[in-house]
Amino acid sequence: MFNLILFGPPGSGKGTQSEKLIEKYGLIHLSTGNLLREEIANETTLGLAAKSYMDQGQLVPDEVVIGMIRSMINAKPEAKGFLFDGFPRTVAQAEALDNLLAEKQNEINIVLALIVDEEELVSRLLNRGKTSGRSDDTNESVIRARIVEYETKTAPVADHYAKSNKVVKVKGVGSIDEIFGSLTQHIKL
Ligand code: AMP
Repeated sequence: MFNLILFGPPGSGKGTQSEKLIEKYGLIHLSTGNLLREEIANETTLGLAAKSYMDQGQLVPDEVVIGMIRSMINAKPEAKGFLFDGFPRTVAQAEALDNLLAEKQNEINIVLALIVDEEELVSRLLNRGKTSGRSDDTNESVIRARIVEYETKTAPVADHYAKSNKVVKVKGVGSIDEIFGSLTQHIKL
């Protein structure tokens, strides 16, 4: 299996680039944000519990997202590999993911980290909010809260994978195709 984490702050282009990467490499896209929004749309108990965190720009508790990822991985034993988008977002999630993959004699092969500065992120997210239908993209204070969550809880995930030399930084500013080109240079599959 080839397992890739597309890493970066909210608004860094993970969703857009994930769509292109899964098409090129035949990986299964696992976006915890998308999975949580589906749970909310279906009005499940999990969705209802997650919504209040998401509306405030806070991370949903680790057990919730780890449980979702575990069942998605277990449901796809034939997968060529997974592209993780928006997960792991805490070191506890990263450790749980490493253990889940190790149980199947697999591991994370590479972490591609998109680099975009904060003011660019805020302006992209506010812009996306005009059309995305996502309430967490329309309010600047919620956007800033998401960036603070990223800096305090998620950035340490890159340090976790840097210990095993798995992190490659990629400039996340430019055209969609330019950034895609830079990402693919690092994928040996
Ligand atoms: P995203 O679509 O990745 O920007 O995620 C939207 C929101 O869903 C985040 O602001 C969090 O509230 C929640 N969320 C998504 N993925 C995770 C995760 N791995 N851990 C905790 N919360 C998450």
